[in-house]
Amino acid sequence: MQTIAHWIDGKAHPGSGDRVGDVTNPATGEVSAQVAFASPQDVDAAVASAKKAGLDWARTSVSARTQVVFRFRELLNSRKEELAAIITAEHGKVRSDALGEVSRGQEVVEFACGIPHLLKGGNSPQVSTGVDVKSIRQPLGVVGIISPFNFPAMVPMWFFPIAIAAGNAVVLKPSEKDPSAAIWMAELWQEAGLPDGVFTVLQGDKVAVDGLLDHPDVAAISFVGSTPIAEYVYERGSRAGKRVQALGGAKNHMVVLPDADLDLAADAAVSAGYGSAGERCMAISVVVAVGDTGDTLVDKIAERTRTLQIGDGAKDTDMGPLVTKVHRDKVAGYVDAGETEGATLVIDGREVRADGAADGFWLGPTLFDHVTPTMSIYTDEIFGPVLSVVRAETYAEALELINANKYGNGTAIFTSNGGAAREFETDVQVGMIGVNVPIPVPMAYYSFGGWKASLFGDTHAHGTEGVHFFTRGKVVTTRWPDPATAGGLELAFPRNH
Ligand code: NAD
Repeated sequence: MQTIAHWIDGKAHPGSGDRVGDVTNPATGEVSAQVAFASPQDVDAAVASAKKAGLDWARTSVSARTQVVFRFRELLNSRKEELAAIITAEHGKVRSDALGEVSRGQEVVEFACGIPHLLKGGNSPQVSTGVDVKSIRQPLGVVGIISPFNFPAMVPMWFFPIAIAAGNAVVLKPSEKDPSAAIWMAELWQEAGLPDGVFTVLQGDKVAVDGLLDHPDVAAISFVGSTPIAEYVYERGSRAGKRVQALGGAKNHMVVLPDADLDLAADAAVSAGYGSAGERCMAISVVVAVGDTGDTLVDKIAERTRTLQIGDGAKDTDMGPLVTKVHRDKVAGYVDAGETEGATLVIDGREVRADGAADGFWLGPTLFDHVTPTMSIYTDEIFGPVLSVVRAETYAEALELINANKYGNGTAIFTSNGGAAREFETDVQVGMIGVNVPIPVPMAYYSFGGWKASLFGDTHAHGTEGVHFFTRGKVVTTRWPDPATAGGLELAFPRNH
């Protein structure tokens, strides 16, 4: 059986420990490989290599760094099918969805190709007589990225193109559930001409994460994952003096007002609820049917849901399996709970017939109606293909529901009323909002991130906030005095004139 290794100093590195984890193909249920789990010594080796390489990389000209990022973009664009196939084999998502993930990540690489412009500082001549001031931004050094299973290529790409273009060295700790995409991207960086050590992959679990959080030579951590771990990473990393951005879980509501086009709203709910088997932090998991829309909307959602083909993501299906058997069983447990707690089970995904191997981690799309805010299918992030419909009498009631929720990642409103949409944009306590757009993932030149328990720290991912996160500022005040006329002691605090 193949063991997926770390990537340190520009080559595969088996690691010093003997702990490994199983990597499965979710469509067959088979163990396809094992992945090395880093020991504390491996963390030290990875960070030491990154630190050494990062010193030279930070001194490399901005033009030369940009050329490497540009070559990485060209290679990625021409070989994205390979990466998509790796994602499908370990994550399970269907090929078109995996390709979409790579493309959205590539947009951040393209944004990072503009780093010379993004790193420009300010300059104020003659702020006082003969005195000029300028600001510059410099890389941090070694930065850690800790990513979740659900986007093994895109989420790391939210961060590393900008971090690397800005002159940092990156240590990526991917999810142990789908670790191969990270190694593929490391090889691509090498082919693009990135010096060895500037991009490192450290495989593993909590030992690797804690090692990075505590390491004195790691300056910053970008984390994406579930809320309890995001909070933990934020606290522990901050306590160790690091800059930390930690993106957490979600429970995204889609409000449907009575004046919405219900066919378009139903299309959107099904696509955003069941795409990637609901394993997206921007998935819609709650539809809030306002006024008298409920019965018609649920019929339309159910009708469309019944047409979905479930099966092996490498075939031409609509929805693949869940990532692991443990996760599949956990999500099925929520379907049991929803039934027990009294929600109306309109479509039961436990009865799925999938086009794939018998041992695949299958669970079909599940639809609940008449869900109430106290039920566990409403309160918890399920992270699977389970869509809940909640009924609300008024827009105000729908808004209150969202604002009372502990998460604030994404939300959407479906309406033909511009005034209502505008009010929603202003009043909803959520970071990313769609108006007739169910999954409002910002473009790379804007920043991605939620509010409340969906993000710890104050900086969102990519866009100019990303550039800010991976650099720190200096302000330089300059005077070139003429020794013939200047000089003399002045002990008072300097004033400008
Ligand atoms: P997870 O929190 O289990 O794991 C994320 C990372 O943390 C992995 O690399 C994992 O190895 C590590 N980790 C897990 N347990 C740890 C522990 N006890 N100590 C230290 N490190 C630990 O998340 P997941 O299941 O891989 O991903 C799904 C979650 O990620 C969902 O909650 C989803 O909403 C969230 N997510 C959020 C966003 C966002 O932008 N807000 C994007 C994608 C995914």
